[in-house]
Amino acid sequence: VGRSTQWLWYSVYASGGGLVACSDVRPFGSVYADAAQPTMKKTKVVVLGTGWAGTSFLKNLKDPSFDVQIVSPSNYFAFTPLLPSVTCGTVEARSVVEPIRNIVKKKSFNVTFKEAECFKIDTNNQKVHCRSIQNTGGKEEFTVDYDYLIIAMGARANTFNTPGVVEHAHFLKEVEDAQRIRRSIIDCFERASLPSITDEERKKILHFVVVGGGPTGVEFAAELHDFVYEDLIYLYPDLEKHITITLLEAGDHILNMFDKRITAFAEEKFQRDGIKLKTGSMVVKVSDKSITLKERSSGETKVLPFGMVVWSTGIGTRPVIMDFMKQIGQGNRRVMATDEWLRVEGVPNVYALGDCATINQRRVLEDIANIFGKADKNKTGKLNVEDFSEVINDIIERYPQVELHLESKKLKNFVQLLQGDLGDAAKQSTHMDIEKFKSALSEVDNKMKSLPPTAQVAAQQGAYLAQCFNRMKECDENPEGPIRFRDSGRHRFKPFRYKHLGQFAPLGGEQTAAQLPGDWVSIGQSTQWLWYSVYASKLVSWRTRVLVIGDWGRRFIFGRDSSRI
Ligand code: FAD
Repeated sequence: VGRSTQWLWYSVYASGGGLVACSDVRPFGSVYADAAQPTMKKTKVVVLGTGWAGTSFLKNLKDPSFDVQIVSPSNYFAFTPLLPSVTCGTVEARSVVEPIRNIVKKKSFNVTFKEAECFKIDTNNQKVHCRSIQNTGGKEEFTVDYDYLIIAMGARANTFNTPGVVEHAHFLKEVEDAQRIRRSIIDCFERASLPSITDEERKKILHFVVVGGGPTGVEFAAELHDFVYEDLIYLYPDLEKHITITLLEAGDHILNMFDKRITAFAEEKFQRDGIKLKTGSMVVKVSDKSITLKERSSGETKVLPFGMVVWSTGIGTRPVIMDFMKQIGQGNRRVMATDEWLRVEGVPNVYALGDCATINQRRVLEDIANIFGKADKNKTGKLNVEDFSEVINDIIERYPQVELHLESKKLKNFVQLLQGDLGDAAKQSTHMDIEKFKSALSEVDNKMKSLPPTAQVAAQQGAYLAQCFNRMKECDENPEGPIRFRDSGRHRFKPFRYKHLGQFAPLGGEQTAAQLPGDWVSIGQSTQWLWYSVYASKLVSWRTRVLVIGDWGRRFIFGRDSSRI
């Protein structure tokens, strides 16, 4: 008995000597932050969700004057950009998650975590109604009071109400989805190997369909192709001729949010790899064994039998958020609207960030019109060029997203872009006709799209809001926001400003495409190494970093694991 025996245990088990073990492993430093602390009247902040937005807020919050309660059905943070790698065992599920209590225990002030889901938000009484989610015991319900509420509940997969999707397709949104997909791929191969299965059935079982040609669908198709052709065909050599991977996209091209060069490269690569790309057809129905498509151009329908289908066509609003939106008068919107300070419109002490909300661009346009109105002090309906420049400066300061979406960094470019876009309205050299300008501005409305639903946006919003909370007292005394804003006075904080750092599209076979700021495009193996280094550096802790890099090394040496566990 003793420490030396523990080392014997390590060596026997590492050498594969022991198959069954009883272990009583105690966590190190298991000091949970739920422990009661002396009560002082503190401002209660409730955070709903432990995804990119919620965790980034928590990590960046430093002011000890808050009493923070986190409620989420996931007691971990998941590094979603690596979920496609989890589906094929390139990295393990546990390597991409960090227990939220590991993050909580590092906070020097009172933070508590409850593993539960919020099912109702009551803004009148400043309460959140929650329900436990554990499989053991009954469902416990409880309420949590707040002074400030931070909604960071993310979104759900969008099915566009297509019949059969929920019942028969896999989503790729959560860690559990990725684990289910991994098992299902192996299931298909094992089933196709059974002697009683005919070749025709084998073809159907080994037909993998991916719906949605966005970054997630494309990355999954590429991962699956690598898994099949780097590992599985050596384990199931007789099945190779029966395997098909099909990627379906309703639009004309895949990766249509990327530069055209990336789209073209991805389409060519998939063609070379034998991934069937079918664009311009909508899925109208999914059954347990087949998927029905409708050609957009001809209206013709086609039935494709499949063994496994993964549905990745974007995101929709969670039911609990929809109920909340009805309650606060946003029932006619698709996504919850906030202002540029991330406050939910109509409820000032409730903030919403990440995929569950969007900054309201219509209000932004109305505001811009107001700014013009105010600048036209003499009510002539025209602005001289200096005033016009000042107004544009003001707009950029308050609405960085205007600048972002018009893809311009400098005021000069911005004005030129407007001139190009707005045609005659902005071409007068000495005076700007405000009315014409305003109506033409609304035409660029569609360019002022909402921020993309990405981890980058969610993490930056979380960090921004934490900085605001850290400086709340200081900024109450010395507001730093722009002077002109829709209410009177000056807002205490500067509005949220998104900084786009670029976007990757891994395409399999150690090839990745990247669109970096300034529309710089990079494609190939060197970009794959950039991808490895950026993702390794962005992982939330040293623990996950070590695990993921270890998984990459393991895959490189031993290949991916094909056990169905
Ligand atoms: P999430 O990260 O989804 O977090 C939502 C949180 O809310 C979760 O903790 C959830 O458990 C919790 N929650 C849910 N319901 C409730 C409830 N009722 N009560 C309380 N809590 C609740 N973005 C990139 O920028 N780069 C990428 O490479 C990239 N790759 C991706 C790959 C995949 C497979 C997926 C699915 C997404 C990817 N994204 C990527 C997008 C990115 O993951 C999301 O934009 C990001 O997760 C949004 O963060 P969020 O905090 O709003 O939501």
